[in-house]
Amino acid sequence: MLFKEIVGNLHTKKQLLEGVKSNRVGHAQLFSGKSGSAKLTLALAYAQFLNCENRTVNDSCDTCSSCLKYNNLSHPDLHLIIPVLKVNNIKDPVSDHFIGQWRDFIYGNHYSSLNDWIDLFVTENKIGQQGTIYKHEADNIHKKLSLKNYEADYRVVLIWMPERMNLEASNKLLKLFEEPPKGTIFILVTENANQLLPTTLSRLQTIKVSDFTTEDIVNHFGKNILSFEKAKELKNLTDANLCKISKILNDNENNLDLFNDFSSWMRLSYKMDIQGISKWMDQLAAKGRKQQKLFLSYVIKMVRECLIYNFASNNLLKINENELAFLTKFSPFIHEGNSILIVEKLEESIKAINRNANAKILFFELSLQMVKFLKLKRKFAIK
Ligand SMILES: [Zn+2]
Repeated sequence: MLFKEIVGNLHTKKQLLEGVKSNRVGHAQLFSGKSGSAKLTLALAYAQFLNCENRTVNDSCDTCSSCLKYNNLSHPDLHLIIPVLKVNNIKDPVSDHFIGQWRDFIYGNHYSSLNDWIDLFVTENKIGQQGTIYKHEADNIHKKLSLKNYEADYRVVLIWMPERMNLEASNKLLKLFEEPPKGTIFILVTENANQLLPTTLSRLQTIKVSDFTTEDIVNHFGKNILSFEKAKELKNLTDANLCKISKILNDNENNLDLFNDFSSWMRLSYKMDIQGISKWMDQLAAKGRKQQKLFLSYVIKMVRECLIYNFASNNLLKINENELAFLTKFSPFIHEGNSILIVEKLEESIKAINRNANAKILFFELSLQMVKFLKLKRKFAIK
C-alpha cells in the first residue's frame, strides 16, 4: 500500500512520514479510526515505508524487493494477527490458520470491518462468535519474536482489531508492547479503542485516523462514478464508511436513488394514492433484499433528520440540498406523536426482510401504516 493510494488524511500522513524521517518510530502504535476509515491502509503504507529500500520523499518506491513483498502482504517480517473463530474443528485457532483467507478478504476491500470478516463465517459460526484473539496467539507471537528478523530493518507485528484480544492474550502481550525486541514494532489497528484495556492503551502511542470527507469519497471513486451530492448522501447514510459505500455502489449500479424512492413514497402515502403506492411497491419489491433494507435504513435516517429539522439546529443535519428542499415541506408531518411509531415499524420491517418476508405484502402493509401515521396530528407547536 502506498500513501498516495489513500485519499485524504493529509495530516496523519505528514505526521507518519515526519516520524520516520526524524527517526522517531514508536515501538507500539495504535491506529484508531471508525469502521470504513483509512486506519488499516495507513498502517500498511506506514509499515511498507519503514522497510522500503528506496524511499522517495513522501512514499515507498513500490518496486524494491521489500515493497513487492509488502504489496501482497507476504513479507516474512510482517506478522499479521487477526481475530479468529472456532470453526472447522480447529482446536486452538490462531491467525496463521486464517491468514490466506484474510488476505483475500482485505484485497477485496481494504476498508472492510470486523463485522464483514465475521460475516464470512456465517454458515460455520453457529454460536454467533464475534472473533477473538486467544492466548495461544500471544504465545505464538512470543515464539516468533524470539527468532531473529529475516531481512527487514523493522519487523512489524500488525494486530488488526486488538479490541478482540481476550484478557489472557492482552496480559501476555503487555510486556512486549512496552519493550519489544530490538527492530520490532507493534502496529495495532482498532475500530473500537475504548474496548481496549487501560493497561494496554497506556502502553500505546495513538494515531487518530479521521473520517473521510465528502471530497475524499469523490476522489476515491472518481468524479465520473460519483457526484459530490451523491457522495454526500452516501457519506451521511454510511457514516463515511468507504467499504459500505463501495458495496452500495456495486449493488446499485443502475438504481441507486434512495431519495427519489423515499420522496415519492411519502408523497403517495400522504395523498393516500393507493394505485400509485401499488406501482411504487412493485418497483421496490423487484429490487433485492439488500436494497430493500438499505432503503428502509434510509427512511429511518430521514425521519430522524425531520426531527432534527423541527426541534434542533439545522447545523446538525446530515443531508444534501435535494433532501433539505424536501424536508422543508415534509418535516411538519413528522413529530413526537408519530416518529417513534414510524421508526419502530421500519425497524420491524427490516427484521421481517431478514426473515424472508414477502416484500409486496410487507411494503403494502407498511404503506397503509404510513398513511395512518402521517395523518396523526402533532400535539405541540414547533418552530
Ligand atoms: Zn520500496
